[in-house]
Amino acid sequence: MVQAKVQALFNSAFKEHRHDKPNGEVDLNFDAANSMRWGLGWRERLKCTRCSCMSDYHNLYEEVENKKGPSRRVAKVNIGLQLGRCTTPISNTGVRRILNNANIIAQNQGAMLRLSKKVNENIQSVGTCMSKESLL
Ligand SMILES: [Zn+2]
Repeated sequence: MVQAKVQALFNSAFKEHRHDKPNGEVDLNFDAANSMRWGLGWRERLKCTRCSCMSDYHNLYEEVENKKGPSRRVAKVNIGLQLGRCTTPISNTGVRRILNNANIIAQNQGAMLRLSKKVNENIQSVGTCMSKESLL
């Protein structure tokens, strides 16, 4: 999670709660039962345990600028993982084993393979690793 994104989530949820219930007690926690994950990137919302109000969802990862249309933008952390992996002999299966042993929930195999293929194709066409933005 990107610290600034987590801070923005808490600050906006706190302000919204204070606006909606100026005198209400507030105890904001991640709504962990409804967390969403895109590979290593998390999308979260907060829930107040005092009154059950919910914040909006926030992406807690940085995204790659999408120049090819309105589809969901890729999390930089997932591209970074593939860029790092492609400079080692570690397979996606190996990466998943490492992450799972470190108690980090790994991206599903199919999604990793699709992103890996896309990153590899772009590295071949560019000829070198320039930046995460230039690869998609
Ligand atoms: Zn509340």
